[in-house]
Amino acid sequence: MARAKPAPVRDVLIVGGGIAAHTAALYTARAKMRPLILAGTGMDQLSSTTLVENYPGFPEGIQGPELIQKCKEQAERFGAEYVGEDAESLQGKKGAYEVAAGGTAYRARTVILATGAKARTLGIPGEKEFWGKGVSTCAPCDAPFFKGKVVVVAGGGDSAMEESLTLTKFATKVIIVHRRDAFKASKIMQDRVLGMKDKIEVVWSAQVLEVLGDKFVQGVRVRDASGKERAIPCGGFFLAIGHDPNTRWLAGSGVQLDPQGYIQVQGVTTSLPGVFAAGDAMDPHYRQAVISAGAGCMAALEAERHIERAKAEGSY
Ligand code: NDP
Repeated sequence: MARAKPAPVRDVLIVGGGIAAHTAALYTARAKMRPLILAGTGMDQLSSTTLVENYPGFPEGIQGPELIQKCKEQAERFGAEYVGEDAESLQGKKGAYEVAAGGTAYRARTVILATGAKARTLGIPGEKEFWGKGVSTCAPCDAPFFKGKVVVVAGGGDSAMEESLTLTKFATKVIIVHRRDAFKASKIMQDRVLGMKDKIEVVWSAQVLEVLGDKFVQGVRVRDASGKERAIPCGGFFLAIGHDPNTRWLAGSGVQLDPQGYIQVQGVTTSLPGVFAAGDAMDPHYRQAVISAGAGCMAALEAERHIERAKAEGSY
């Protein structure tokens, strides 16, 4: 592979294209750190959702793509520069960090990692087609849209339990379809779910094969352990089969990851000095836009402090 062309050393490089990255960009731009954002070539999670009703400041809700676009424009107004490249590696070199992307070695004294996570999907027919039209991966975001409907949830971990409990507040009935005959979730969450027999039904040892519908979800086709297939009529289908953080590119960088691949942090500080993390790449628990934005702000303030300290110590 051709050696990446080195770029001038900046104060801060932000990797990611979601709300954590844009918030870090806004704060570092206003702090006159001239941030460069490697925003990737893919789509962040908010850009692939529809109406966001739980982000403060928008009483009528806001479309996910519009929220993200506004955050980006706000950062650009203060001078943040965006590059649509995917980061390939991170390395510490001669007092600066180097991030390789699209044939260039982007260099900076501090780096903010905000590459997000991807909700796992099943890859079954109808899943993409009805995305945002009854198929969702976020009950806290979308549950109120399923008022008075029957919904199916796939998964057996804590997320599936939590999403199901959230959905019971709106849906008339929640049907959990789990691929095994026992949940993976913590005992306390299982007990809560299994204690709600009037609202939550469990279909054990079954797989969802297809999402059915017309303009909106109308059902799912499932196969049980005996191989028998049937359609379950429902108005919504929630995937809660886990998330994968977008952190593979950090292999060999020295940034410590947990066994699931999430960036390990103390607050927003990673295992490398001057490298901070924000958003779903370091947060397996909350996965909410407002928390990612908050962490992006924290990472920006820490990056600014890091530079100030380096200046005070004469190592800048
Ligand atoms: P998990 O990886 O814990 O669970 C994923 C679930 O989805 C498992 O039951 C798994 O089945 C199932 N699954 C995975 N792939 C497929 C597939 N292809 N087809 C069908 N089913 C599939 O992910 P979660 O998002 O639930 O949780 C992630 C982490 O976040 C955990 O550590 C969890 O404890 C934590 N969390 C904690 C919460 C809380 O404390 N309130 C709330 C939410 C999450 P199988 O069981 O067979 O492996």
